[in-house]
Amino acid sequence: MREQMFSGTIASPGLGVGLALLTGTVSAAIDIKPGTSDDEKVLFDLAVQLSKTDLSQLIESLDETSANIIEFQLALLEDDDFLAPVIASIDAGMSAFSAWMSMMDAEVVDYDNASDPYMAARAEDYRDLQARIGRRITGGEPELTIASENSPVVILTDQITPSQILSLEVEKVAGIALTGGAPSSHASILARARGIPMLVGCDAEMLIGKDGDLVLIDASESRLYVNPSEDRHQTFTSKLDAQRIAERSMQNLVDHPAYTLDGVRIQLLANVDNPVLLDMANSQAFDGIGLTRTECIYQTKTLPTEDEQYDVYRKLLQWADGKPVTIRTLDAGGDKPISGVTIDGEANPFLGVRGYRLSQRRPGVFNVQLRALARSAIHGPMKVMIPMVTVPSEMREFRQRFQEVVLELESEGVACAVPQLGMMIEVPAAALCAREFDADFFSIGTNDLLQYTVAVARDNTQLSNLLKGAQTSVLRLIGLVVNDARNMSIDVSVCGDMASDPELVPHLLDLGVRDLSVAIAQVAQVKHIVRGWGKSTTQEKSDDRL
Ligand code: PEP
Ligand code: MG
Repeated sequence: MREQMFSGTIASPGLGVGLALLTGTVSAAIDIKPGTSDDEKVLFDLAVQLSKTDLSQLIESLDETSANIIEFQLALLEDDDFLAPVIASIDAGMSAFSAWMSMMDAEVVDYDNASDPYMAARAEDYRDLQARIGRRITGGEPELTIASENSPVVILTDQITPSQILSLEVEKVAGIALTGGAPSSHASILARARGIPMLVGCDAEMLIGKDGDLVLIDASESRLYVNPSEDRHQTFTSKLDAQRIAERSMQNLVDHPAYTLDGVRIQLLANVDNPVLLDMANSQAFDGIGLTRTECIYQTKTLPTEDEQYDVYRKLLQWADGKPVTIRTLDAGGDKPISGVTIDGEANPFLGVRGYRLSQRRPGVFNVQLRALARSAIHGPMKVMIPMVTVPSEMREFRQRFQEVVLELESEGVACAVPQLGMMIEVPAAALCAREFDADFFSIGTNDLLQYTVAVARDNTQLSNLLKGAQTSVLRLIGLVVNDARNMSIDVSVCGDMASDPELVPHLLDLGVRDLSVAIAQVAQVKHIVRGWGKSTTQEKSDDRL
């Protein structure tokens, strides 16, 4: 059999070998002859009831954040207004299946056409629910089931839903390759959280194979091989073995603090993109949390209440067990729209009302978050920072607002505290004048700092070469911020993706960065790099680069 090679985009890194499992999604193109409208309504109602039971059971086995994704779907099924158009279409003579599938297609169309990744993730939730009910109506299986004798498998399909990823038995899955999907989708976040290698946007011909073909997935090099040659298989297996050995030895030391060759202690903090990730992370491996992207708790149908937020923040402090926890206030806007909160129709959302700028314009929403933060601050060493800060008056105004919230809580007799108040440095204007900001700490967001320095939107895949090529200019800006922080005697950390990039970590250390906040799955590797760094090993390289 001839070897075939396909390429894709990395959604969750790693290597895997398994047998092809090709699965298709339920499609609205299926034509089903309608019964009487009463029969079709009973069929639809049954499908909804059974799916509600499935979803409720699934929620019970999940942690809170994964459960939120499923709860969103459950809430849709409990909303009579949402289901009403399906009943109307059945009354007009359509089959339950076609009525449901076309209503959901219409629902998803706006999200599908949106170029930003957050909207794409929403579309994924709708598609997930569409397929679930569609399968129920047609009598299909609601979950992906994998027979033990055929595993491990590499799943080859067009789309995979968050609930399918959650229902997979990880030991039976060597990888997933999708012709659709996006790296920032919920499914990708969950694949990373579960350590399943995943490629998205793969060549469509990938789906022309058959179940049981041998597949090698290299989600570190963005490649997939079907029916590999003997040589390829052997080389790949050696790479996989070497990776497992390296991972094991790095993992052995992951719980120990990271010192450089010169004995300098480097703090390794966790980036919490979603609290679900903490389930797979041992807090021993981290010196605390350096960034919490609180946007993830605003992805439910209604905005999170003060008490709901308080619970999430308190749990982060519990997980960190006395180590510092940095929480970023809502960073919506730009590539992260939140319906009803962000401003629609901006010509340039990345340059518009996002981050702290949005919080200023949504005092009601912001106040709820600040109250929850001030209340949870009594449970441990919390640090709170605001995103997208541009001028010093924003930081002054934030301090004042936090004080007001604390006074308000105290006047109500509610226990609260003022945590350390700091800011993200991710706009070049702030990086150039960091010393002018009244902040207790800085956290450098290299993802945005890079896009605003280079004038390339961070999600523009066509221009990613410019993002890579201009890293030196960002390193210079980081050097300025580190210098200012040192003169101000305040902490500075790097929390953007550069802090997890094995090639760039030595340069950050050369610049004097001593706190790195990294993607949870990367901590062992970053510690390994830190342990091999010392003046003699990297100074020359860094001088060349700068
Ligand atoms: C950054 O910009 O580097 C950052 C950490 O924030 P986000 O990626 O969430 O915008
Ligand atoms: Mg940012």
